[in-house]
Amino acid sequence: MGGYKFTRVDRSCTKGSRLDRFLIADSTWNHLGPMTAVALGRTISDHHPILLRRFTADYGPIPFKIYHSWFQGEGFDNVVSEFWSNGYYRRSSSSLINFKNKLQGLKGAIKVWVNARRSRIERRPLRGGIEDDQYNKICDIVKQVTIVQSDDSWRWCCDTMDSFSVNGVRKHLDCLSLPSHYLATRWNKIVPRKVNIHVWRLIKDRLPTRFNLWFRGIDNVSLICPMCSNGLESIYHTMCECIIAVKVWKSVAKWLDLNLPFQLPPIEFLDFVNSQGNLHKAKDVLFTIIYTAWWELWRFRNESIFRLGKKRDVRMVDSIIHFLYIWYQNRYKKASMRWDDWFKNPLLFI
Ligand SMILES: [Zn+2]
Repeated sequence: MGGYKFTRVDRSCTKGSRLDRFLIADSTWNHLGPMTAVALGRTISDHHPILLRRFTADYGPIPFKIYHSWFQGEGFDNVVSEFWSNGYYRRSSSSLINFKNKLQGLKGAIKVWVNARRSRIERRPLRGGIEDDQYNKICDIVKQVTIVQSDDSWRWCCDTMDSFSVNGVRKHLDCLSLPSHYLATRWNKIVPRKVNIHVWRLIKDRLPTRFNLWFRGIDNVSLICPMCSNGLESIYHTMCECIIAVKVWKSVAKWLDLNLPFQLPPIEFLDFVNSQGNLHKAKDVLFTIIYTAWWELWRFRNESIFRLGKKRDVRMVDSIIHFLYIWYQNRYKKASMRWDDWFKNPLLFI
């Protein structure tokens, strides 16, 4: 199990215990297969949340095994001695490589013998219980199969019409892999393209947070937020829940004299602003401010990881106000605001 060592602590936080047994429905297990668990950070409860994910391990080629029972098998000695005296294998000038090739050839000969022997061995009778159940189930499935006298053909089951189309595949994959949300990304002309793309990735949950990296099978040293070192680093944590993010949003709300619901997930936050009819012209600027705040938070997060000792959280809000003004003045055609007014509250002077 990854993440934290313990999954529960007592009230005084002096004793920890670890729960690493999971009750999983058969259908889930059959669908996902082998899984691994990770204990996440603890906040209110005395238990750590535990995440399960599918885990596929590749241990390389399967080693060749020899069973003692083979030695008693009919013809085993002959196969080995015959191959060792007269068998064909790739020759080489190096005696060591010769030996390796000869062993590989012997392995092939034994495999042929094992397969032939297996086909001769009679199957043992069913032992009852689950074996009987499984046998009956497979018989039922086989009974439903009707073999007709026609050529084999491919069948596409992901479409109600049973007909294959590239469009159908695209829709099926989108349905499986894309997050379901209803708000289209709002392209903002005031901020640079990189900021727009950043927001697009953010609302699709495609930023490489530590949780997202882990979720895609990249094992990190830690899943903990690099900004506050307290909590799992997800998009929601980084942009809304983290103590640094809360500080930034509170300062932004104070600057704008607005009660912003920054604790909402990004997509709902944008939706909320979009639904505010009383903002009118200020809406564009407000979107710009939100986009820039997310951009600055992500930059700060990256600096916390890659430029240790050069954090600048106290200057982050100044930086947001400053960048925004430069972008507003240089990229917005209707810009006519003085720096003093901007610094005071841009929404009042639009
Ligand atoms: Zn944090």
